[in-house]
Amino acid sequence: MKIKEILGALERFAPLPLQDGFDNAGLQVGLTEAEATGALLCLDVTEAVVDEAVTLGYNLIISHHPLLFKGYKSLTGKDYIERCLLKAIKNDIVIYSAHTNLDNAPGGVNYKIAEKIGLKNLRILEPKQESLLKLVTFVPQAQADEVRQALFNAGCGCIGNYDSCSYNTTGEGTFRAKEGANPFCGQVGKLHHEAEIRIETIFPAFRKGTVLKALLTTHPYEEPAFDLYPLANTWNQAGAGIIGELDEPETETEFLRHIKKTFEVGCLKHNRLKGRLIQRVALCGGAGAFLLPRAEAAGADVFITGEVKYHDYFHYENSLLVAEIGHYESEQYTQEIFHSLLKEAFPSLEVQLTKICTNPIKYM
Ligand SMILES: [Zn+2]
Repeated sequence: MKIKEILGALERFAPLPLQDGFDNAGLQVGLTEAEATGALLCLDVTEAVVDEAVTLGYNLIISHHPLLFKGYKSLTGKDYIERCLLKAIKNDIVIYSAHTNLDNAPGGVNYKIAEKIGLKNLRILEPKQESLLKLVTFVPQAQADEVRQALFNAGCGCIGNYDSCSYNTTGEGTFRAKEGANPFCGQVGKLHHEAEIRIETIFPAFRKGTVLKALLTTHPYEEPAFDLYPLANTWNQAGAGIIGELDEPETETEFLRHIKKTFEVGCLKHNRLKGRLIQRVALCGGAGAFLLPRAEAAGADVFITGEVKYHDYFHYENSLLVAEIGHYESEQYTQEIFHSLLKEAFPSLEVQLTKICTNPIKYM
């Protein structure tokens, strides 16, 4: 299969519009028309990782952290990023990154961390705001099922663990086709009454282009009537961080030992122990300390993330246990998400997790 088909599957799982404003997720370098010879999965792209792909004969590297974040005016190999790019180009290797779009996607980075800890009843800690639209359209009764299904196929009607959600009412539409029109029903110059179904359904705003295309290609009218409304609803299926519960409460020490072991943490930092029992766990892989206020407001017993500032240790001392487990350690299992996605979608594709530990931080 072509590399672009593989990237398409990744983007169906973690759509690029879900990435944060600062991010540069997506294709980093390379031509995606080529047939894939294998995919190497990693958290970070380093020269050693590109070398590993060359040795394996793989022409696709999929990373969590983007290689490129800023603009370059020359490409001379003066830093490791430029050397990775040059090496990739020279060896016809495509580098692709799924970063905050994978953090914010259902089933993404934080779900994987929660799975490793054994959390149940998962909810997004900071759901996306104002990213849903409502579509209302009016379809002749005989075509309503086809149009509705096309809208669902384009991403409409997903609410929580339900899909195909819509509301339908019957009514009557009127129109008069003018000279030059080619009406699906009725006659030019005559007022026409048509029994129609009003279909209402919601969708993530970033799918607007796909949804309107589906509507306009399946709706039988020359000029389909439709309304788009912005919604103030939160989109609970996408966003930052996760909160969930352990089956049984653990003491702070038991819990921290469990985390240290699960994530092979060289040095686990935490704030003062207060003798709490830990059951409700909030977390965010990588630099997730911005979610500390959310975790506190959600009544979490502990917040786990990769990086925390000194003063946050003071600030949350009385409200929750804060555990800083390292950026790499917290996100290392992200590669497993890529692995299961690719193995399911492309069973014959050679896929390997990198054997290189790219964590740049060492502990004495
Ligand atoms: Zn990260």
